[in-house]
Amino acid sequence: MTNQELTARWQGALMNNYGTPKLALVRGEGAKLWDADGKQYLDFVGGIAVNALGHAHPAVVEAVSRQIASLGHVSNLFIAEPPVALAERLLQHFGRDGKVYFCNSGAEAVEGAFKIGRLTGRGHIVATQGGFHGRTMGALAITGQPAKRNPFLPLPGDVTHVPYGDAQALAAAVTEDTAMVVIEPIQGENGVVVPPAGYLKAARAITAATGSLLVLDEVQTGIGRTGHWFEYQAHEGVLPDVVTLAKGLGGGLPLGATVAFGRAAELLQPGHHGTTFGGNPVACAAGLAVLDTIANEGLLENVKRQSEKLRDGIEGAGGSSRHSLVSHVRGAGLLLGMVLTEPLAPRVQQAAQDAGLLVNAPAPDVVRLMPPLNLGDDEVDAFLRALPGVLDEAQGDAG
Ligand code: PMP
Repeated sequence: MTNQELTARWQGALMNNYGTPKLALVRGEGAKLWDADGKQYLDFVGGIAVNALGHAHPAVVEAVSRQIASLGHVSNLFIAEPPVALAERLLQHFGRDGKVYFCNSGAEAVEGAFKIGRLTGRGHIVATQGGFHGRTMGALAITGQPAKRNPFLPLPGDVTHVPYGDAQALAAAVTEDTAMVVIEPIQGENGVVVPPAGYLKAARAITAATGSLLVLDEVQTGIGRTGHWFEYQAHEGVLPDVVTLAKGLGGGLPLGATVAFGRAAELLQPGHHGTTFGGNPVACAAGLAVLDTIANEGLLENVKRQSEKLRDGIEGAGGSSRHSLVSHVRGAGLLLGMVLTEPLAPRVQQAAQDAGLLVNAPAPDVVRLMPPLNLGDDEVDAFLRALPGVLDEAQGDAG
């Protein structure tokens, strides 16, 4: 089976809503991937920030194998141990009492938050321009990207989108009719956009004053991705009412969660919400393996260390040189945006792929890096060695 053959079959059988992907992958191990033609890649896409421990991590393989061999699925009509244990473990990392609702994706986690918001009895929602929260209709209503929304109007809800990072605009939009404010601690899909210091704290104060819920969408930033269990924990004095999670939580299995605290945790009542697969024991066993491994192997520290190394290497700190196509690096931990001086990110992505590096281009001038949290020194070195040639190639193609 070659890349070409798999691509032709893909085109015959799959809906074309993603456009035709350029690469057919057949195997992964750690931060390495192999395509159908046998070519090897260093994976800095990570399944879009999903593969927290890389590919085929032994702890995940073992947990999933053990669980599927003993109890694969029971539905929400019964209790199984893995979702209970995973909810308890998540709450330990939040360091607070709360309640967890498990689902299968980020969009569904946001839908759960949307329903919790509705149950406050208020209708208005404030979210951010450029924000991304998923493609189901409720999540899309909260998403602040017109190109993704416009084909599907009207969308549910009374949603005001304010400029991201602007606490004054947020304060002006939030009223006593506002059920909730939904914010990403860092806007991932919008190009790894980091808000000014104090933004989350201001959002907390503004929502507290009107009795509105503060919902932090940590689907992309959560589960150690930024060097903290949850990115909001890097910001002193911010305690959200609801946090949405997915991506890294399942370590490659489909798993999302809506986590609520305080009065927000008591709003969903029996009959209000549900999904057949939510809390699936196999997905939750994978989630426990991910959280165990992050804790036991000191991966939050590794994320911080490798992040610094990548940043320094790309920005040319400490005597190395910065490529003329690189402006700066933004983001946190291993969610980094390499900001370019020209809108050549798609060319960089292609040149990287040709050179055996997988990266992603969420904006014309931003290359996003989302490698596994257990990324090694050798892999960072390999990336930094290959990068100048990739950037030369992208610039040369453009010239
Ligand atoms: N919220 C955020 C912050 C995301 O980055 C994403 C996915 N990129 C989602 C929600 C939606 O997640 P999913 O694709 O699993 O529905």
